[in-house]
Amino acid sequence: MIAVIGAGPAGLSAAVTAAKHGESVILIDSSSRLGGQYWRHLPRAWNDENKYHYNFQKAQELFNEVLENSLITWYSNAHVWQGEKRDKTFHLFVIRNGVEEVVLAEKVILATGAYDRALPFLGWTNPGVMTPGGAQSMLKSHGVVVGNRVVIAGTGPFLLPVAAGLIDAGAKVVGLFEANKPWRWILNLHGLLLNPAKIGEAIYYFGKLRRAQVKLEYGKRVESAEAGFVTVDGNRIACDAVAVGWGFVPDLSLAGIFGAKLKVAKDGTTVVDVDTHQETSVEGLFAAGESTGIGGSSLSIIEGRIAASGKGKFARFRAQVFARGLQRVYPVSDAWQSLVKPETILCRCEEVSLDDVISAVEDLGAEDARTAKLFTRAGMGLCQGRMCARNVGEIVACHLSLEVTDSERINYSQRPLAGPISLGELGDGIGKEF
Ligand SMILES: Cc1cc2nc3c(=O)[nH]c(=O)nc-3n(C[C@H](O)[C@H](O)[C@H](O)COP(=O)(O)OP(=O)(O)OC[C@H]3O[C@@H](n4cnc5c(N)ncnc54)[C@H](O)[C@@H]3O)c2cc1C
Repeated sequence: MIAVIGAGPAGLSAAVTAAKHGESVILIDSSSRLGGQYWRHLPRAWNDENKYHYNFQKAQELFNEVLENSLITWYSNAHVWQGEKRDKTFHLFVIRNGVEEVVLAEKVILATGAYDRALPFLGWTNPGVMTPGGAQSMLKSHGVVVGNRVVIAGTGPFLLPVAAGLIDAGAKVVGLFEANKPWRWILNLHGLLLNPAKIGEAIYYFGKLRRAQVKLEYGKRVESAEAGFVTVDGNRIACDAVAVGWGFVPDLSLAGIFGAKLKVAKDGTTVVDVDTHQETSVEGLFAAGESTGIGGSSLSIIEGRIAASGKGKFARFRAQVFARGLQRVYPVSDAWQSLVKPETILCRCEEVSLDDVISAVEDLGAEDARTAKLFTRAGMGLCQGRMCARNVGEIVACHLSLEVTDSERINYSQRPLAGPISLGELGDGIGKEF
């Protein structure tokens, strides 16, 4: 039996490919719907107009195959919170409807995806301030438009589909502020040449922004947010909501729990280290999709296929060239730190401010994110540092004029649990084994 964890583009593609090769597959996902971050909202939003947002034909093909192939068991609303390998068998501990169950498998494919990277600025924890993924998730999953007038900011190509989605839903996007300059695309010309379909996508999105008269400005950042306004480059802009995002952070929890080797990419992002077959350093444990590096849904689909069958390596090469080029086009420089004020909250779970962290460094001698965490509780809340650990690490290093080391980056990406579990659920023991 093969267990695939995550039913996004990578996990769907892995499950379908494995089943086509005659393998029995259990596809486990914490969500109630198939599709992961990109397709979870389908089929409600399908129409030809938004084909670039969704690549819905591919989604439909994968959904149908998962639902119709008797070799695939789709296990929804099931969160893998722990796992271990005993001899040659993987034991996956799953919480489903408040009951813990264990799934046994000879091969596991991790396809756990990524989440938005948020950077702190004054007011970022106020109501109405969110990540682009948050704004899009409310729209796609619940049909909620986050505001009538919305500002979108940060960096990366993902800002474009979020703006397009909000425009389609009737919101006025009063400004899109991209922190990087467009000339940087010359750093990814070879990526574009290898993936010409991306040019069509760009034309589609920019056409949509132009028709909706969206003010598109480069080299600008949101400095602060307060009720009804954001400040960008000294100008106050009236809006109901602001969505600010700085790319994505791979979800490495389960890879770390299984002891798979992690590595640090050139842009400082920690990812799962895989070989050409998408296998991790743990035999039988594979990883595909954004947990191995941010690259978009097409690359995730290809990697899922390779993890299940070993086939598709040239297509992966092309998509990886484009993805690596994106890191050069949309870097996140340390400039964000100059916008963090002493009173700015860095860890929203434990309400730890910059002032608290700096005093841990200057008065108590903290030299890295881990020590700063022990002194201030930054990263000890419900999200276990998923949001703030990287930011706190970079702030501490910058304050001491040091570089964050790779081992520090890897350390703060590791978590002992891949999700919260109550003492009651733990105490009740295993309800079912299969
Ligand atoms: C919020 C958000 C919105 C996005 N919107 C767009 C968009 O509009 N257009 C676009 O081109 N790209 C978008 N992206 C990028 C796109 O989602 C990714 O490129 C693509 O979905 C990656 O596919 P994946 O299979 O690697 O992971 P995902 O699609 O992220 O799927 C991972 C799945 O794993 C499940 N999972 C994780 N951990 C566990 C666990 N422990 N137990 C059980 N299940 C688990 C999650 O519930 C999720 O369903 C978005 C990304 C994010 C984070």
